Amino acid sequence: MNITPEDGHNFLADSGFIVAQPDLVYEKIEQIRADGPENLTVYFDWDYTVIDNSTWRIIRSCLPEQVQRDLAGFVAQNITKLDDGTMTPGESLAFTSKMLDALRNPDLPSDTLAKIRVAMASTPLFEGAQDVFNRCEQAGAETIVGSAAIADFIGITATANGIAPSRIIATPLRFNMGRIASWVEDGLTHDLNKHTVLHSRLAAETTARANEIVIGDRPHDTLMARSDDALFIQVGGIGTDNFKTLGESFAPKNEEHRPFDLVAIEPGLVAVDGLLRHILS
Ligand SMILES: [Mg+2]
Repeated sequence: MNITPEDGHNFLADSGFIVAQPDLVYEKIEQIRADGPENLTVYFDWDYTVIDNSTWRIIRSCLPEQVQRDLAGFVAQNITKLDDGTMTPGESLAFTSKMLDALRNPDLPSDTLAKIRVAMASTPLFEGAQDVFNRCEQAGAETIVGSAAIADFIGITATANGIAPSRIIATPLRFNMGRIASWVEDGLTHDLNKHTVLHSRLAAETTARANEIVIGDRPHDTLMARSDDALFIQVGGIGTDNFKTLGESFAPKNEEHRPFDLVAIEPGLVAVDGLLRHILS
């Protein structure tokens, strides 16, 4: 399908996205499309982007109630800091480290790991997500998940839902005799470093592809891009609790963050799938 700029604007108008700069975005989309899937990497945040939940919250729900109660205040405090942008990298590391430590407490019931695995396997993806990943896989576009959660558990949810991301960059655990023993220290991702871990891992493992699409629900997800010309898509759904304001999407408060090009109106990945159907056709 060859479309003119005018068709392109119409395509965007009906696509389920709000677009800040249609000309620029149309140009980016057509460049990515012309260069083909072999030159494309699609980066995904995971929580509230691919699943309608937080992986860490699912994990905590599998811990004994007393442990959950003991952690609740600390968790609430840190989530508030993350949400209002006052979290420092040191605090973000301390938050994730304390959560990881809670998982390797030898006093946890022996079925804790089994419970977490079952919870991960029964976590559904957002509508459209399976199509998005499978469409990319079949076309030969690379899919990379970058998350501040745990790689092993994201992998269980992915497999249970029939998707196989090319790579999952998140904290890898070490298991021993049916329990969580530790984690790979230099692979530890938290909210404020996941992009640096992702960039160093990918630099070692893959050469950069020319074109990139970044899909996330938060402004810091835009840091996952390796290219300056990436197409940035915000998902999560306007009007949901997780969404702030469109102004912030297009003009982020933190100057390191990149503005989003497209903002999906509805939660889930249905609009993204429509766009990828066009790009990969
Ligand atoms: Mg997220």
